[in-house]
Amino acid sequence: MNRSSADNQSKGDILIVDDTPDNLRLLSAMLTKQGFEVRKALNGWAAIASAQADAPDLILLDIKMPEMEGYEVCQHLKADTKTRDVPVIFISALDDVMDKVRAFASGGIDYVTKPFQEAEVLARIENQLQIQRLQKQLIAQNEELARSNRELEQFAYVVSHDLQQPLQSITGFAKLLILKYQNQLDPTAHDYLNRMVDSGGRMQRLIQDLLGYAQVGKPNPSFEPVNCQQVIEQVVENLRSPIAEKNVTLSYDSLPTVLGNEIQLIQLFQNLLSNAIKFTNPDIPPHVRISVAEQQQHYRFGIHDNGIGIDQQNLDRIFEAFHRVHSAQRYPGTGIGLATCKKVVENHRGQIWVESELNVGTTFYFTLALSSIDNPPANPKSAGP
Ligand code: ADP
Repeated sequence: MNRSSADNQSKGDILIVDDTPDNLRLLSAMLTKQGFEVRKALNGWAAIASAQADAPDLILLDIKMPEMEGYEVCQHLKADTKTRDVPVIFISALDDVMDKVRAFASGGIDYVTKPFQEAEVLARIENQLQIQRLQKQLIAQNEELARSNRELEQFAYVVSHDLQQPLQSITGFAKLLILKYQNQLDPTAHDYLNRMVDSGGRMQRLIQDLLGYAQVGKPNPSFEPVNCQQVIEQVVENLRSPIAEKNVTLSYDSLPTVLGNEIQLIQLFQNLLSNAIKFTNPDIPPHVRISVAEQQQHYRFGIHDNGIGIDQQNLDRIFEAFHRVHSAQRYPGTGIGLATCKKVVENHRGQIWVESELNVGTTFYFTLALSSIDNPPANPKSAGP
């Protein structure tokens, strides 16, 4: 049987534990009159057995009982997964010295004193039941949100994946037309076809970014020791042509090995680095530096650039998907890169933030947990075009 206040008209299922039958009767009558369903137990063991058989919505627990004190009963209840979430209100006699610290430390949530003030007892019970209901609601809503989020990501993944092939055909045939019929096409037809190819390319990038974003949203990526030095070398290789095109000098500290998902960490460094390379200031020779500092529980990485910067009012929203600050014509992009970075860092239980000044430069910081397999720090390395 799984009783709950929603199953019937009862306002809640309450277990009263007291070794004095008169107290049990008094409390029971008071609560039944108010519409609660009441169970009674005369000692700690009976209370534990009753709660384990069917968890009540709330327990009123006398502290002073001969065989087992209320504190101990409460500890037993809190140690059992079946009963640990049931709120416990202690009952103490007014003339007893109640150890409030012990009451709360053993898991109690509130207390009432004998002789009972009916209105006070009811108010405290209602209060706890309301908190309990809201907590359950919150947990259910969170689970529902996580589920629908997973569904949406799955949807984005499937749609983007399936769009790739037809899009490649469209741009592929447009390119073929340009190539094979270039002498027969007038300038307007050329212009239209070039626009088709450009739009196809933009859409292809959007699809790839969306796929990357959906991919990092998958639960429980596998973790292994990842050498960040090798990750950066791979990323620099991937970004060789924009680094050379923009004449960017790049320097980085000796980077450690962390516990993480290699593919996701490549995505993280690559997105941040490619932004640092993209948003350069045309009036200054571009320089990008990657730093790492070992702090108490984690490494703090920094990607510093001396580019165009981001104004303060946009800093808060920069990690939202599709939020872009600079003109799409001048700086093409999809606005998904930083949202992906945020997810990757969160998957690694780290934090990511940005500091920036317009026309001075931007630094993206993120943290990754220290792993036991650390590289000894060596001399800083440098790479340039
Ligand atoms: P994308 O680069 O595809 O536009 P991102 O999510 O990577 O998308 O970045 C979102 C926006 O944040 C960019 O459009 C740009 O306006 C701003 N931004 C990101 N990195 C930098 C940077 N290093 N310097 C200046 N602006 C940046």
